[in-house]
Amino acid sequence: MIGEGKGMVGLSFFGGVNEIGGNKILLQDGDTKLLFDFGQSFTFGEGFYTGWLGPRPVNGLGDYFAFGLLPRIRGLYSEKMLVSTDLAYAEPEVKAVFLSHAHFDHVGHIQFLDPQISLCVGVGAKLLMESMEETSGFCSYGEHECRKFRTGDKIKIDGVEVEPVHVDHSIPAAYGFIVHTSGGAVVYSGDLRMHGPRADLTEDFVEKARECEPVALICEGTRMVEKEKRKNYSEEQVMALSNEVVSSSSDRIVFAMRYSRDLDRFRSFYKVAKKNGRGIVVSPKTAYLLCKLLNDEHLDLPDPTKDEDIMVYFKRKKSGHFDDKDYYIWERQFMNKMVTHEFVHRNQGRLIMDLDFYQLTELIDIKPKKGSHFIHSMSEPFSEEDIEDQVMHNWLDHFGMHFHQLHASGHLNRDQLVGLLDNIKAKKVFPVHTEHQELFRDCSRNVKMLNYGKEYVV
Ligand SMILES: [Zn+2]
Repeated sequence: MIGEGKGMVGLSFFGGVNEIGGNKILLQDGDTKLLFDFGQSFTFGEGFYTGWLGPRPVNGLGDYFAFGLLPRIRGLYSEKMLVSTDLAYAEPEVKAVFLSHAHFDHVGHIQFLDPQISLCVGVGAKLLMESMEETSGFCSYGEHECRKFRTGDKIKIDGVEVEPVHVDHSIPAAYGFIVHTSGGAVVYSGDLRMHGPRADLTEDFVEKARECEPVALICEGTRMVEKEKRKNYSEEQVMALSNEVVSSSSDRIVFAMRYSRDLDRFRSFYKVAKKNGRGIVVSPKTAYLLCKLLNDEHLDLPDPTKDEDIMVYFKRKKSGHFDDKDYYIWERQFMNKMVTHEFVHRNQGRLIMDLDFYQLTELIDIKPKKGSHFIHSMSEPFSEEDIEDQVMHNWLDHFGMHFHQLHASGHLNRDQLVGLLDNIKAKKVFPVHTEHQELFRDCSRNVKMLNYGKEYVV
């Protein structure tokens, strides 16, 4: 077994190999095993599970192992989750799991981990995860002993010291890691970008990574592609172009569809709304998330319970008459900020409204004027046959709305990745979270081409 002699450090990859997302990276230094991220692949279960046909929670890891959807690693999973499998429970061998950020493709499977294994997570990322659990009926991350960190902290596990360093990404509280092992520094990028509002955070990370002269760099490569087909802007451009749409829309409403936890994007639309004297209408879920994140003073987000420009949209549910008991308890705290379809209909020229795919039905009640605007502030579809994309366009056409594609990615583009590799100058590079490992070879000499589950000596 690699990693058993002094100075021998091994890395194995059980996800994020030839795919975007699903990172699961095992680092072994002597007897110390640490895991970095434990996310769900975007292609998870493809071919066997689709829509509502998914693994049965009652069968724990049984339905996952049946199709090889999670790695069979000893001393990692909880006893309860292993009951219906042929992998015997063993006391934890992995000492800690470090989470780079709260995106599902990095944290999605942590409910299976042995609760004795400590979870190391950023202060803000923990709040994001709690908010998900508290407002979504199907999200549960399980019980864990949690160690929360911020940039500047150093977490010592046996002889290994892990240094989290903030990066800019499309979700708050994202980190890269510098792992000081007996064989030298191993750097893991997490997910990161340079064209967001906090490029300075990513710069800090790159600077620190370079200074420690790493023996290995595990680097994401989401946008490491031959030629980028999809349109991408910087966050600043998204804001400027959205402002153009809003300022020229006179008495028409502007809808915005964005990733629910992209708070940089929320902030962009919030600023555009303010600049144009409009209010911003959000869902109770977004209001809840904003409240939750007030607990992290570094994030500088508005308080939806106090901010007069933020309104909370309540859909008709159950009785259809907006009775308290129609709504979840966590939703009720926003009822004094409630607006309904009637209010939105009457005030179309004064509002920007968040509208996600599953809220499109609200358009029937809101009755937007012909010529209203819809900003799709998410990635363009990955395939031309994307059914949801077609359905969305049918809705927009039906209501005579103008479509705008305005999005800033959460990831470095190819040139920026090349720049990062040049700058950090790691002895070895391990490309993860990419469909094009081979393109890393064009910009760095010592690139390891990864195979799933294989152990590499650093
Ligand atoms: Zn991410």
